[in-house]
Amino acid sequence: MPSAALSTLSRRRWLLAAGAAAVAVPALAQVAVGSASRLRHLVPAEQLEQSAAQQYAQLLQQARAKGALVPDGDAQVQRLQAIARRLIPFTPPWNERARQWQWQVALIRSDEINAFCMPGGKIAFFTGILDKLRLTDDEVAMVMGHEMAHALREHAREQLAKNSATGIGLSLGAQLLGLGDLGNYAARLGGQLLSLNFSRSDETDADLVGLEIAARAGFNPQAAVRLWEKMGTATGSNGQGLNFLSTHPSGPQRIRQLQANVPKVQGLYEQARRR
Ligand SMILES: [Zn+2]
Repeated sequence: MPSAALSTLSRRRWLLAAGAAAVAVPALAQVAVGSASRLRHLVPAEQLEQSAAQQYAQLLQQARAKGALVPDGDAQVQRLQAIARRLIPFTPPWNERARQWQWQVALIRSDEINAFCMPGGKIAFFTGILDKLRLTDDEVAMVMGHEMAHALREHAREQLAKNSATGIGLSLGAQLLGLGDLGNYAARLGGQLLSLNFSRSDETDADLVGLEIAARAGFNPQAAVRLWEKMGTATGSNGQGLNFLSTHPSGPQRIRQLQANVPKVQGLYEQARRR
């Protein structure tokens, strides 16, 4: 999607939102989440974003070669892109770098229940998550907001830094001291991006930040609860998509926590609906 147009839109919409928010509700962060991890500074954001962009391009190329990349003109792709366009203007307050991100949204034909957003704003949905869970626009926005939040809050960067601190710490140290090729290192990190498991606290963080972004964009926060209820029923129904479900366990605790946070963003949602 044209990123220049998006970023202009993004500035305009955000200013508008900030102006309105100053009157009715506090400007930012209705949900309570901790500050971003310090460890993430061990991995340079720019290198990681570059590497993610390469991985993403490769993934789309492979999907295209297999005939599994849904073309841009498809109604489902356009639906996903329209939802992304509404969410993107509300991302920079969570990460200044997002203003420069070249956001992309792709749809991959696969029965798997899966979706992700790589560092730098590279989003992919699998047809399985849309079809099997019969997601409404509000529910898609909750999944997308959640995945965007992982990227905005740099959970991959943090996780890679943690992995590095234990596994390849020595080589990381060498890289940081200028003793090696950082580009190669970032490329190796990129290879791990699709197999990362986020911690339970990163999952909560992504749930809440995603919920707030979606509410600000005018998506019904109650849909977050319905989404995870649907995920809960999908768990274990068959073998498909268990990868996403195993890294995103839907239990009563997750749903209770979302339920408790819906009232905090309800005002933002109602305000967005009035615009
Ligand atoms: Zn997640």
